[in-house]
Amino acid sequence: MSTFYESVQSNFDRAAAMTKIPKGLLHQIRECNSVLQLRFPVKIGNQYKVIEAYRVQHSQHRQPTKGGIRYSSRVTQDEVMALASLMTYKCALVDVPFGGAKGGIKITPWKYTPEQLQAITRRYTAELIKKNFIGPGLDVPAPDYGTGAREMAWILDTYMSFKGGDIDAVACVTGKPVSQNGIRGRTEATGRGVYYAMREAVSIKEDMRKIGLEPGLAGKTMVIQGLGNVGSYTGMISQDEGDVKIIAISEYEGSIYNPNGINIEKLLKHRKATGSILNFNGAKNLPSREAALELECDILVPAALENQIHIDNVHNIKAKIIAEAANGPVSAEADEVLRKKGVMIIPDMYINAGGVTVSYFEWLKNLSHMRFGRMEKRFDHNTYSNLVGLIEKQTGKSIGNKEKDFLTRGADEIDLVRSGLEETMVTAYHEINEVRKRKRNCEDLRTAAFVVALEKIASDYYNLGIFP
Ligand code: NAD
Repeated sequence: MSTFYESVQSNFDRAAAMTKIPKGLLHQIRECNSVLQLRFPVKIGNQYKVIEAYRVQHSQHRQPTKGGIRYSSRVTQDEVMALASLMTYKCALVDVPFGGAKGGIKITPWKYTPEQLQAITRRYTAELIKKNFIGPGLDVPAPDYGTGAREMAWILDTYMSFKGGDIDAVACVTGKPVSQNGIRGRTEATGRGVYYAMREAVSIKEDMRKIGLEPGLAGKTMVIQGLGNVGSYTGMISQDEGDVKIIAISEYEGSIYNPNGINIEKLLKHRKATGSILNFNGAKNLPSREAALELECDILVPAALENQIHIDNVHNIKAKIIAEAANGPVSAEADEVLRKKGVMIIPDMYINAGGVTVSYFEWLKNLSHMRFGRMEKRFDHNTYSNLVGLIEKQTGKSIGNKEKDFLTRGADEIDLVRSGLEETMVTAYHEINEVRKRKRNCEDLRTAAFVVALEKIASDYYNLGIFP
């Protein structure tokens, strides 16, 4: 089986062959520019433990570089290099002006107390500072598997204690709590982006006809693997805004099935209370955690880890659409089988780009030192109120208070973030789909997404005058 990095490279090569980008430049784009391997001691109880960690900057063609930090016992250099590479292509694809990076600490987070996790995070950050691998204009981490706003706040605080005089220091990391210079809408951003992407993909009649589905999300059946940040928001938003029916969930402890639909919000409460998704009201426990992946459904959303659909289980996959919310959930070998079968794969580098898109908004907010909407919200409200007043006067009819509130509202930060995210995901989908239709031999969205990304990165290099 290919490693994760080899899978990314093989997807790159397939797309690269469809471009006119010179060989030498393709080689430069493909390789990871800087790989930092770290080993540092942290006192755990009465003993010192040596922690293995990484930060990889795949491409500095744009700076800063950007990418999450993962805490998992499965972290390897290969994995971090694969994830950093994907970040470069992802950013280019959705016009986020960063190079790609990724970090990883090889630990099982739930085996440590919050104090110990804090010590590990702070020491990792200090190592990055020493090596010049973090900074608002250098390299900006964010959350990923096993990390969230809490870890980002620790990173910020450590960075501030070294670089407090830097007026832009708070832009050294994104995904921070809103109260610590974060942005509204970042926590849900990846899941919300997955929702917008799926909505766009299923809205195209001719593409749906090819896979035997009616256009539109409403009523489509969905299976989700991984009920963490990305999986849970994808589920909740798809249910609330898209009327999707979620029939099965797979988590670490097992999987559950209910053909009538599973309410994700209630399931999250159940998991919080019992520590497990199993034995949820109205749902049936399935024999294994993998069993859910093999169910008949319209959309399968792997939102846990890489290589979950591989050569040994790919022949049992019955979904018509695979929405790759996780990074690299389908191995290169499985991808080939699914492509031949005509399964629609909405690729990771596009579909989970909502996180980095809103991280970009957070970074801009931090550099401008002001909340989005602060200047214009009240002005817009007053303008719309005057307009509504004029309409009432001219028509002689009064507009109800509820409608008035709706019509005269000025945009808040959360409205602007969601609007920017939706615009990004919709525009990028059509850009990719256009290339898929236009290029000969390019029948899948992943190859098309790589072609779009590679051409944008190559054009940056041409503009820099580095490659003719
Ligand atoms: P998370 O840690 O919040 O959640 C992951 C969930 O998957 C956990 O609940 C875990 O128990 C579950 N899980 C792990 N192995 C599993 C298995 N074999 N079967 C079923 N469930 C399993 O992580 P996350 O932030 O939601 O990230 C998930 C994926 O999305 C990762 O691939 C990550 O790189 C990608 N991603 C995350 C973001 C983000 O903003 N957090 C952005 C882009 C991509």
